[in-house]
Amino acid sequence: MNVYLTVIIASLIGSWLLGTLSNRLSAKALAPQPPIEFADHFDPETFAKSQEYTRASMRFSTVTDTFNTLLTIIIILAGGFNWLDILVRSLELNPILTGLTYIGSLGLISAIIGLPFEIYHAFVLENRFGFNTMTVGTFISDHIKSFILSVIIGGVLIAGVLAFFQLSGPYAWLLCWGFAVTFSLGLTYVAPTWILPLFNKFTPLEDGELRQALEACANNAGFKLSGIFVMDGSKRSTKGNAFFTGFGKHKRIALFDTLISEQTTEEIVAVMAHEIGHCKRGHIKKRLAVGIIKTGVIFYLMSIFMSSPELFAAFGMERMSIYAGLIFFALLYTPMSLVLSVLSNRVSRKHEFEADRFASKTTGKPEAMISALKKLSASNLSNLTPHPLTVWLKYGHPPVLERIRALSTSPK
Ligand SMILES: [Zn+2]
Repeated sequence: MNVYLTVIIASLIGSWLLGTLSNRLSAKALAPQPPIEFADHFDPETFAKSQEYTRASMRFSTVTDTFNTLLTIIIILAGGFNWLDILVRSLELNPILTGLTYIGSLGLISAIIGLPFEIYHAFVLENRFGFNTMTVGTFISDHIKSFILSVIIGGVLIAGVLAFFQLSGPYAWLLCWGFAVTFSLGLTYVAPTWILPLFNKFTPLEDGELRQALEACANNAGFKLSGIFVMDGSKRSTKGNAFFTGFGKHKRIALFDTLISEQTTEEIVAVMAHEIGHCKRGHIKKRLAVGIIKTGVIFYLMSIFMSSPELFAAFGMERMSIYAGLIFFALLYTPMSLVLSVLSNRVSRKHEFEADRFASKTTGKPEAMISALKKLSASNLSNLTPHPLTVWLKYGHPPVLERIRALSTSPK
């Protein structure tokens, strides 16, 4: 058997096995009673509901994973990639357009196949637990907007990469790297003004107790904040959140309206202080630097593997092309990407503890952060006792209980 085919099929099955096993173990690890720390936030009914939500989410993730893995393997073994290639080539477009059509068709096919799962997730699963607030109209308009955006953004990015690999010889990967990094930094820069408002309304937080408390906290931490906005998160879900957008001096914070309606001023200040902690402790810069290096490594490896005849033989291709090489490399990259995501989740969990500690020090009120976390877990029906394998594999945040324990022992 072709060595690339063996690696790809084995890693698809391996990552499916790991995911399924982790869901099984986490379902078994569900405790009959909430941990003592949560006794005041989870009444028996809410706790039972949170367990049922965890079970239902895991079943959903196992079914989607199984379906996607099986389908990918069947398409590879049945020569689906070659079939699509013959079809696209018969249009006799120029090389770049042929590549865009090929990759675009694959993207479209996978989006159409994923649609029933998305509909089920939003309107059945999340609805059953009272999270979904999205209308069918919002769902449809979200999808139309995302589709147009991915055609434009994905189109420019892929066309650039195809052109560099086609025209610039052995150092094409360096040019692709520079191009992709500049392009994505540009996107991050315009996202708060051009892209995010397409999906949500951002209103400056009105003057009052909350605004003054947030500004005082930012000042106290020596943090330049160019705006505090309220985002209509309630348009889609009852789950609350907060995040920063923009670069350098143009940093703004967006608070979900759902967060504001559920938490006290002190708790929201703690949540913002946590986010400030991520900037002040250099987490955002580190993440950016790692992302840039990772992109370079990916393009370098891509340039080595994408022109291997053996790789094309693994997919039963009759002809070689740069565009199909990109897709095949992405599949070959599966095991590497799994390893990297486990590592980056590990770093990210460490950063979360650091940001919590920062919030607790800056506000001098670890108890505010603790109660904010408890409220968020109760209203999001979080799993309070995930299995360590699930945490290791998927958690970018430490289990909430560990965060609370760390906060209650951290020095002020
Ligand atoms: Zn965080």
